[in-house]
Amino acid sequence: MTITRFAPSPTGILHIGNIRTALFNYLLARRDNGTFILRLDDTDQTRSKQEFVDAIFYDLEWLGLQWDRVERQSERLDRYHEKANELIGNGDFYECFESPDELDLKRKFQLKRGKPPVYDRESLNLSEEQKQTKRQRITGYWRFKLAQREVSWKDGIQGMVSINTANVSDPVLIRGDGLFLYTFASVVDDLDFGITHVVRGDDHLTNTATQIEILASLGSKPPVFYHHSLLVGKKGEPLAKRLGDLSIRDLREKGIEPAAILSQLAYLGSSIPVNLKLDLDEILATFSLDSFSGNPTKFDEQQLVGLTSDYCRSVDYKEIESKVLERGIPKADGEQFWNAVKGNIKSIGEITEWWEIINQKIQPQISSEDREYVEAAMAILPDLPFNQDTWKNWTEKLKLTSGRRGAKLFLPLRKAITGRDAGPDMQSVMALLKVSPKAKI
Ligand code: GLU
Repeated sequence: MTITRFAPSPTGILHIGNIRTALFNYLLARRDNGTFILRLDDTDQTRSKQEFVDAIFYDLEWLGLQWDRVERQSERLDRYHEKANELIGNGDFYECFESPDELDLKRKFQLKRGKPPVYDRESLNLSEEQKQTKRQRITGYWRFKLAQREVSWKDGIQGMVSINTANVSDPVLIRGDGLFLYTFASVVDDLDFGITHVVRGDDHLTNTATQIEILASLGSKPPVFYHHSLLVGKKGEPLAKRLGDLSIRDLREKGIEPAAILSQLAYLGSSIPVNLKLDLDEILATFSLDSFSGNPTKFDEQQLVGLTSDYCRSVDYKEIESKVLERGIPKADGEQFWNAVKGNIKSIGEITEWWEIINQKIQPQISSEDREYVEAAMAILPDLPFNQDTWKNWTEKLKLTSGRRGAKLFLPLRKAITGRDAGPDMQSVMALLKVSPKAKI
């Protein structure tokens, strides 16, 4: 059985890069009728906030990425203690006492001598007596003793990966204040929850080597790893600084639809082209983690705008009816109105502007050379209510009386009635008008 997890820290709100990871884990689990766990990496209680937990739930639900259960690391501290004791028993965990300043000095010294800044294990060699003396002055923290060997695994996206842990500092897994760090807590969780596949960003590759060693010390085998590349901007620049404005909350506020985000993220960086998929079931039918390359993935926000307008054009009215009605469109007009405007909007929110046009809350646009023509046209426009034939009958008459044709016949009327020079088909606009344009001219 496939069991995956998405493991955000509730220290901020989710951005597009996080959702890419969440979606991959979600799809992998759903494809195999497996379990998708939402794990909150909240051991750092000063930085973790309930408002961020709530925002994570809200964003995932909005996207339809429903999890099967939630696990919180802050509720599992006893378990981490148990497992830490196991590592101490195995001789793979050791207490350290160097202060950040001392470590910094060591690093500078190593770099000066052209050596990699890897922790020199000074504390590992302390006698029990020396440790006792240090403990009176400072609380120790705990490092994992890496085996300093080549750790290799076959990554589902990166292919064969090899990292020599001799080039990595022994990681601190428990801080002096007793805080369990992610690297360790995550290993214990993955073991206890029977995680079969870990999908995450390739910024975790070095962690993976460390985690494979911790797993080995605890007598366990690693799960299958998939390290996807990180999203970069159009010119290949890191997105990290911009991720603030690429939060799911901001995208939602800009009118981007969940289907657009999911369709883009499920295929961007893979060999399958990005096209709108209306829902997660449609994505599941073609999604494959094997189709992703390990190269950095270029992200373009404009693509989300295009996919959102594709969504408006393609979605079944029943699916978005509530969003139409919540914008004040009466139920009786909803479907006809939506069908008239859906091809001319970039987001659902834009329908309100069109509803204002239907109610003639606009400024007509009439050029001086068209004024006479428009006024004559309004004089022969029948009274409300209009229907699907109103536009055709009216403009056929005008063609004869004015001698105008094509754009010269139609465009001044469109501009006078809608205040714009482009938009939905005028036959539908006329049929929907609630207020006669005569009142405005
Ligand atoms: N909380 C970690 C992160 O957000 C989770 C990484 C992992 O999936 O193991 O980077």
